[in-house]
Amino acid sequence: MSAPPRRIVVVGGGAAGFFAAITCAASAPGSEITIFEKGPQFLSKVRISGGGRCNVTHSCFDARELTKRFPRGERALIAPFHRFQASDTVAWFESRGVKLKTEEDGRLFPTTNSSQTIIDCLLGEARAARVKLLLNRGVEHAVRSGNEFELTLSNGEKLTCDRLLLAIGGCRTPALGQLAVSLGHTLESPVPSLFTFHIETDWLRALAGVSLESVEISVPGTGLRERHALLMTHWGLSGPAILRLSAWGARELHERDYRFTLHVNWLPHLNAENLAITLQSFRNSHPAKLVVNTPMNPLSTRLWEALVLASGIARDTRWSAMSRAEQHSLIGQLLRSEFQVTGKSLNKDEFVTCGGVRLKEVNFKTMESRICPGLYFAGEVLDIDGITGGFNFLAAWTTGWIAGHAMTTE
Ligand SMILES: Cc1cc2nc3c(=O)[nH]c(=O)nc-3n(C[C@H](O)[C@H](O)[C@H](O)COP(=O)(O)OP(=O)(O)OC[C@H]3O[C@@H](n4cnc5c(N)ncnc54)[C@H](O)[C@@H]3O)c2cc1C
Repeated sequence: MSAPPRRIVVVGGGAAGFFAAITCAASAPGSEITIFEKGPQFLSKVRISGGGRCNVTHSCFDARELTKRFPRGERALIAPFHRFQASDTVAWFESRGVKLKTEEDGRLFPTTNSSQTIIDCLLGEARAARVKLLLNRGVEHAVRSGNEFELTLSNGEKLTCDRLLLAIGGCRTPALGQLAVSLGHTLESPVPSLFTFHIETDWLRALAGVSLESVEISVPGTGLRERHALLMTHWGLSGPAILRLSAWGARELHERDYRFTLHVNWLPHLNAENLAITLQSFRNSHPAKLVVNTPMNPLSTRLWEALVLASGIARDTRWSAMSRAEQHSLIGQLLRSEFQVTGKSLNKDEFVTCGGVRLKEVNFKTMESRICPGLYFAGEVLDIDGITGGFNFLAAWTTGWIAGHAMTTE
């Protein structure tokens, strides 16, 4: 007599849960796989991701290099990325008819520019593999009993299963991670990652919409430093440099209650000495021109004007009349503008939770719990988060894929 089919329950119908369920069904077609989703929709974050376009992954195809994009999880992801990484994700989707395109900054999106393409693919694959898909069914309690798990759903229904995967997403509050805790796990406390900075400086806010390709920002007294593009907004600063710094500093900045000093170097390719030489050449070549009207590349006229005025140089000052002290002040402003950050806003295009299930409690060869046999984890529920660029989905695909395989074989 053949063994009864293995009953596998996936809690959470997001990117990680779907990838795990589909992988599981492909590697053991006889298994009985069910996804329970507490909300009214599957893959709701995929839908809103990347501004509705879904930044599926990144074009960095080197496993070790990829891990460097994870403020939390870098070491744990080395071995998993050697088994399933960004290039495998591209191949996975392309072999299922989803073409991806790479943008200049390395982010990959479906060529349709619509996250619906990714949703259709995942839903189609899951249905074809006969994965049972149940909406509005939260898993409220899970208890390990003998070799199985006893589950209680939000509608009061009870059931048992042999393998249990928690793919419940970021535990923004400890209550959301209660299932993992009740099965013996520890949660690293949750704090937001990928946010923008509130700065009340009027002249900066007046520049909303201005962006720069490469600036260097840093937080004095910490090791936090980033060189990347910057965007000025109505509430302060945003753009890749800010989002990356917020990810690396998620805990430290939370501890400071998002109140800290930020330095911005607008011309990171120059030092004070060669900047002084450049200013001298301006002074020599157009002595009669107003300083505010002669911007230095690559700064826009509006930004240059604001920086000149912020350094205390009067609007009617000509290059020939600029004093040594004024020049010194301008160099200081260009290389180290100082702002007081007074708060944060979540970035609308992508945000994640820093924190989650403690990594040393999970075996990354299988994604199985080291504490509770038969229990697996995938996706943002883990204490793993990446910078922007498709890395957060990548972690969900990879850990989902590994858990999906292991749940049928282990
Ligand atoms: C606005 C926004 C845009 C983003 N854009 C990108 C992007 O373009 N690229 C990128 O790489 N990352 C992006 N991210 C991050 C990315 O969406 C997440 O990292 C990813 O969705 C994590 O997948 P997951 O399956 O682990 O969790 P989720 O997608 O959060 O899915 C978890 C699911 O579990 C369900 N659930 C929770 N508890 C239970 C329970 N007890 N019972 C049943 N179901 C439960 C939840 O309702 C949810 O549907 C974005 C995030 C946001 C918020």
